[in-house]
Amino acid sequence: MSEKLASGLSRRGLLKLGAASLTLLVTRTAAGAIGRSSVMAVRVWPAPDYTRITLEDSQPLIFSYQQLSNPARLLVDLEGVEFNSVLAKLPGRISAADPYIKQIRAGRNRPGVVRLVVDLKGKVKPQVFTLKPVGEYGYRLVLDLYPADPIDPLMALLQKQPKLPQQQPGENPGEIARMVTIMLDPGHGGEDPGATGQAGTHEKNVVLSIARRLRKRIEAEPNMRTVMTRDGDYFIPLGQRVEKARRVQADLFVSVHADAFTNRTAHGSSVFVLSEHGASSAAARWLARRENASDLIGGVDLKVKDPYLARTLLDLSQTATSNDSMKLGRDVLGQLGDVNPLHQGRVEEAAFAVLKAPDIPSILVETDFISNPEEERRLNDDAYQDVIADAIFKGVKNYFAKNPPLAKSTLS
Ligand SMILES: [Zn+2]
Repeated sequence: MSEKLASGLSRRGLLKLGAASLTLLVTRTAAGAIGRSSVMAVRVWPAPDYTRITLEDSQPLIFSYQQLSNPARLLVDLEGVEFNSVLAKLPGRISAADPYIKQIRAGRNRPGVVRLVVDLKGKVKPQVFTLKPVGEYGYRLVLDLYPADPIDPLMALLQKQPKLPQQQPGENPGEIARMVTIMLDPGHGGEDPGATGQAGTHEKNVVLSIARRLRKRIEAEPNMRTVMTRDGDYFIPLGQRVEKARRVQADLFVSVHADAFTNRTAHGSSVFVLSEHGASSAAARWLARRENASDLIGGVDLKVKDPYLARTLLDLSQTATSNDSMKLGRDVLGQLGDVNPLHQGRVEEAAFAVLKAPDIPSILVETDFISNPEEERRLNDDAYQDVIADAIFKGVKNYFAKNPPLAKSTLS
């Protein structure tokens, strides 16, 4: 059995494989071929959606876990791991405000086994999985603690302060006639920092800040409201972002990013829409590939079926949506062009996974190049973030003025 295979299995899996595997495990440790591993880093990402704990090592972590009740807790055993100062710091990383974790206890359980006891605030649905080295990361063991009853974004939206659509007779026809919902998607988050500038600015932080400014503007409109795919520093897989937008029956989907390129002089804003029949340029194809790698870096449990994927196959026609996406893209690009040089004077197309809602016009805005030192500096500037948020907002408003939404009976 290969090292790789052993690494991907839980201890229970190894037991099922029988004596041969167990011998291998013992031999490995005893012979010191690999030696005891030491966890290099621990990270905790608490969020309303789920709390994630990541352990990072230079070699694959072998683990088993078990959920117990009364009191609710999760036991995670790490095989052949040294209890070191990094693991000792894990309990201190849990904030009292964590939605799912009460506390963590960590220590040597028996020779060669470190046990983490995660005391829970209630029942959770855990997803525990490993990730191979990618980007800056070594081997990772990921513990995702999802609520036993998943949060429904539609319920969350309806429970928010109700906002009544204002419809007055004699309004000019450009005004929006019903409440529209705009899904704002700050790219990356949590384990996935996105692109990082020379001065250390992470894309995930600046795009969240810009998206929040955009939200403020949209929420001030009487007939517009927003939902965010994430509103904090945590990772949401790309498919789930699309799924959330569909669940709340969003009228538009706007993903906010910051571009990066090896050449530091690359600069300016761009807007992208989905193309499933080839990219509009080599650069667009390259960029879509980089943005789609978000799931690999951010970390997704591949064993868990993405409910979105199956459904998309049923939606055969996307033509109307892609026309609307292009119109929205042009309106937003036009406004960005008034405040910033454009990287490309036209809306570009490529196969971005996050733009794949078949029934929601969707765009991805690359605000600036974070890899360009001057643009990185501006991206950190509050006033400049407002300028970008204003431009996207005006683009969205222009789009609705020209393309008033059709009546929808499902949402107030
Ligand atoms: Zn990005």
